[in-house]
Amino acid sequence: MSAPEQAEPRVLFVGGLGRSGSTLLELLLAQSADVCAVGEVVHLWERALGADERCGCGERFTACPFWQRVGDHAFGGWSAVDRDDVLALKDRVDRTRHIPRLAKNSLSAEQLADVRRYADLYTRIYRAALAATGARVVVDSSKHASLAFALRWAEGLDLRVLHLVRDSRAVAYSWGKQVRRPEVVDGEDFMPTFSPFEVSKLWTAQNAAFHLLAARAQVLRLRYEDFTADPAGTVRRLREFAGLPDDPEALRILTDPPPAPFRAHSIAGNPLRFSGGPLTVRRDEAWRSRLPRRSRAVVSLATLPFRVRYGYLGQRGSDESVEKA
Ligand SMILES: [Zn+2]
Repeated sequence: MSAPEQAEPRVLFVGGLGRSGSTLLELLLAQSADVCAVGEVVHLWERALGADERCGCGERFTACPFWQRVGDHAFGGWSAVDRDDVLALKDRVDRTRHIPRLAKNSLSAEQLADVRRYADLYTRIYRAALAATGARVVVDSSKHASLAFALRWAEGLDLRVLHLVRDSRAVAYSWGKQVRRPEVVDGEDFMPTFSPFEVSKLWTAQNAAFHLLAARAQVLRLRYEDFTADPAGTVRRLREFAGLPDDPEALRILTDPPPAPFRAHSIAGNPLRFSGGPLTVRRDEAWRSRLPRRSRAVVSLATLPFRVRYGYLGQRGSDESVEKA
């Protein structure tokens, strides 16, 4: 399938701290033919090109026909990409510590050349993914604020940023669990874990960065709790933000799920992308009973300012107050 090439590819970049429901959200959005979800492109260089991990379709990266087409279209084949050069460039551009610089209105000639070249790699991948699928919008769930700030400098990219937030206590509980990574083919590997205090720092830094970005790019804020309370309304709202028409077919999976939903050709992300079962949206509240009291106290205090801002307060937390972004 191919579509007329979009001069300016449109990307819905899902930002925020991991474990906020982005994999579920992208799978839901990708059930529509006009949306192509590619997972977390920020990890492509190391996990896909480097370690040849499995794509969301189940194939290894090098055996996935979709990613081969994307590589051919974007770069004339993945072998033309100098991975070490990209990783060195990524280190100079796409790091949380570079955000204050990327937030400025001007850069030095050298910095501008670097960030434009880095953003161009992603723009090429997005354009190729759209050409390969005939979709109109590509969803990149990379989440890192530093990449969103880099993409803001891209030439010829229609960037729309979704800032996904979730109660810091739920996020801390999730980052404390040991989860095996099913995309690893050789041997066994686990998703990283972080202490409640580390998660608190990351959560605050990522969220603060997306507030900073909102003055410089198109940013829509969405709470995980509002998404899980109203998945259909969320899909409608996000499609509108992405400039897509209302599509009742896009919502059919919620009321009338097929036995095996479409699996996305996605890089990295939650193991959920391999499940292959019916897609159900349900708020995960395990943290309420399982996050140890001391951890909860640490996270509650360390993330207080943004919890107030997002309405995550009190014992019942996210149920009691709803702030619409
Ligand atoms: Zn694939």
